[in-house]
Amino acid sequence: MRRAPELIAGGGPAGAAVALLLARGGAMPVLIERSREPHDVVCGGFLGGDAIALLARLGVDPAALGAPAIRRARLIAGRRIAETDLPFAAAGLSRRTLDATLLDRAAGEGATIERGLAIRRVDLDQRCLHLGDETAIGANAIFLATGKHEARGAPRPTRSGDDPALGLRIRLEPSAALARALAGTIELHLFRGGYAGLLLQEDGGANLCLSVAQSRLQAAGGRPEQLIAALAHEAPMLADRFGAATGAGPWSTVARIPYGWRARRGRHGIFRLGDQAAVIASLAGDGIAIALDSAIRAAHAFLHDGAQAGPSFQSAFAARARRPVGVAGMLKHWGETPWVAGPMIALFRHAPGLIRHAAATTRIGAD
Ligand SMILES: Cc1cc2nc3c(=O)[nH]c(=O)nc-3n(C[C@H](O)[C@H](O)[C@H](O)COP(=O)(O)OP(=O)(O)OC[C@H]3O[C@@H](n4cnc5c(N)ncnc54)[C@H](O)[C@@H]3O)c2cc1C
Repeated sequence: MRRAPELIAGGGPAGAAVALLLARGGAMPVLIERSREPHDVVCGGFLGGDAIALLARLGVDPAALGAPAIRRARLIAGRRIAETDLPFAAAGLSRRTLDATLLDRAAGEGATIERGLAIRRVDLDQRCLHLGDETAIGANAIFLATGKHEARGAPRPTRSGDDPALGLRIRLEPSAALARALAGTIELHLFRGGYAGLLLQEDGGANLCLSVAQSRLQAAGGRPEQLIAALAHEAPMLADRFGAATGAGPWSTVARIPYGWRARRGRHGIFRLGDQAAVIASLAGDGIAIALDSAIRAAHAFLHDGAQAGPSFQSAFAARARRPVGVAGMLKHWGETPWVAGPMIALFRHAPGLIRHAAATTRIGAD
């Protein structure tokens, strides 16, 4: 069996950030990522103020990568709209660009990045990854950063029930109407059983991302564009935006998102990061910040105390993520419940400070 001093499973924001920092701190991390090339994933691409501050610590400036600034939030339920300034400067950046930039920086610091290699199973007891090429690789410490995807051998049991959430994402081609509607703004469209986020990203296109109960997609015939059409009565402005695009790329999907999960207990030599540490409801747009924050804290703990820091890092991070994950879960529930969402938007219209408060309390922070 091959050995590496520190192994990182997955090269999303969490994995790339921890690789960068471990290498910068003098360690020799090896990162395993299954995709061969940079690609887009199911993510809204919203970077809140905390994500931007955390990226700055890694030497990454979204504005320098062309990310359009976002200053306002617009919430829409049916024909009701509430809009206000955000309490922080935000930005829209595609995950293709963000992930590729972070992985390049990690390689630049001396981390070994092995792409095109899938992890088939994680053995937490032996601290070893079984790979798709039938080989295995063991390590002194494993940083588990496979994100939304369940890693075999390291489950995240949640009470997602018999109608779990799934994520959908598509890039809408630029159009004057979309550019006008979305300039400087993140839109959140609420409907029964789900919501959609829409923003402009650095390539001029718009990123449309949905989190939706599986049953809603099934009821619409199983195809995302049929779901958008079926939502025309409930979310007419979403259907309008979709229709305003001059074209669209392929849909990406991810099933069974374990919203609300937090890894409360750790073990020696194992550090769960990002969505493997805590899964915040995506309408908060703070999953990337959680990924970066967990990576920064895990790298610091490991470089300071070694593999034995696993349990203390994990319980401290679970405690830190408790409030944002809890508040976002509650807002998700309200947003997906029409008889709550409508009056909530009406309230937000009269008290837009509540939107700012909700945006602020769903941040992990960057302190
Ligand atoms: C619908 C939706 C919208 C969202 N919108 C936003 C948003 O606007 N802003 C925000 O901050 N957050 C958002 N999030 C959350 C955000 O996408 C995640 O929290 C974030 O991507 C977590 O980063 P990560 O590095 O932990 O995992 P990921 O980004 O999922 O990265 C995991 C990496 O591991 C690799 N990998 C997975 N399995 C294997 C394997 N078996 N072998 C090898 N490699 C593997 C993957 O290819 C991937 O590169 C959204 C989530 C959803 C579902």
